[in-house]
Amino acid sequence: MRENSQQLFDKAQQFIPGGVNSPVRAFKAVGGTPVFMKSAKGPYLFDEDGNRYIELINSWGPMVLGHAHEIIEKAVSDALQRSFSFGAPTRKEVEIAELIVLMVPSVEKIRMVNSGTEATMSAIRLARGYTGRDKMIKFEGCYHGHGDSFLIAAGSGAVTFGTPDSPGVPKGVANDTLTARYNDLEHVKELIEANPNQVAAIILEPVAGNMGCVVPDPAFLKGLRELSTRNGILLIFDEVMTGFRLSRGGAQERFGVMPDLTTLGKIIGGGMPVGAYGGRKEIMDYVSPAGPVYQAGTLSGNPIAMAAGYAMLDYLNTHPETYQTLEDIGQKLATGIKNSLQKTGLSYTLNHIGSMLTLFFTDKAVFDFESAKTSDTALFGRYFHEMLNQGVYLAPSQYESLFFSTALTDAHIALILEANENALKKIS
Ligand code: PLP
Repeated sequence: MRENSQQLFDKAQQFIPGGVNSPVRAFKAVGGTPVFMKSAKGPYLFDEDGNRYIELINSWGPMVLGHAHEIIEKAVSDALQRSFSFGAPTRKEVEIAELIVLMVPSVEKIRMVNSGTEATMSAIRLARGYTGRDKMIKFEGCYHGHGDSFLIAAGSGAVTFGTPDSPGVPKGVANDTLTARYNDLEHVKELIEANPNQVAAIILEPVAGNMGCVVPDPAFLKGLRELSTRNGILLIFDEVMTGFRLSRGGAQERFGVMPDLTTLGKIIGGGMPVGAYGGRKEIMDYVSPAGPVYQAGTLSGNPIAMAAGYAMLDYLNTHPETYQTLEDIGQKLATGIKNSLQKTGLSYTLNHIGSMLTLFFTDKAVFDFESAKTSDTALFGRYFHEMLNQGVYLAPSQYESLFFSTALTDAHIALILEANENALKKIS
């Protein structure tokens, strides 16, 4: 059924570590062979064997409008006529910066980079340069890319593959990363008190997606804002997943809590490799060449990526109804999945906000990394394969969120819910 994928994977393992260029693509956690994709359109992925899947990952977030949306296709094909990279400033970089500042409430200036990892690494360097302090606080189970400072109690692929603390991170760097429990304000207070005037930044996913979907208590976000302000610490929201997804202005707009710096990623490239970090003017003006903190990139602000990103953000900005559509899709799927679960007698917790959702097989509420890890990952693996075999493509790990696109119609939702009901019957 997936022979071409198998052949490609056999060969891939000879030439690429683990056969994949990013660990989360491997099926190591759920068993089996990763599916090699050939093309995608709207809500569908098509694999190398001609199988079709309804897509619930959407390239780990960015395809909010589904695959190969015509406005992005047109923007990219127009940009291609004008060459691929100039290494000099372009009009589109100014236009996208202006648009992001308009849409994301706390951002007054923005710098483009090439990935979410670059965005978080650069934001932390800036926070350290601006405050003159070295330490930072991150949360267990949050993932901020693969920069050294962040591979401490990290989520996503790092926890999936049993290496939340990666070898290769120098001890000195690791010592400057303090880790707190998500949704636990008291723990953060204790860390700040134990390290007076030493903490440059608190960084978090304002809604976590990388230990599965974990929603913050609104009081937690407000409390972090107050603690940061009181202690001269910069609050960084890593909105690589939540930006332009949970609302036009991201999680910060949805929860009404403004960070000092925001990191953005894949979504602002409409599927092209992009990241960005932005925030208050006086902090961003510390970045070179305006200020002393160095950060650069030959391909940053790449014209093809900027064209795709601008087309997508402009669409979202001028079609606010998109966010109601995403809410409705998320609500229908969450309700339908729960209805089927209740018939099975399986223990579960379903975390859901807007168009992000994770089903955990546990009888515990999931509000932090420890509770996320109570989920029965073997059962999740069986559920994953039952869904895949019925043509529904989920993230191949318990510690990820699903992301829905506006390309899902009621007919697709009905198909997903039918597959879900069958899968749950089989595994219970
Ligand atoms: N921050 C968050 C919240 C992420 O989810 C990710 C990737 O999934 C990153 C940062 C890193 O982004 P990238 O994979 O583009 O380096």
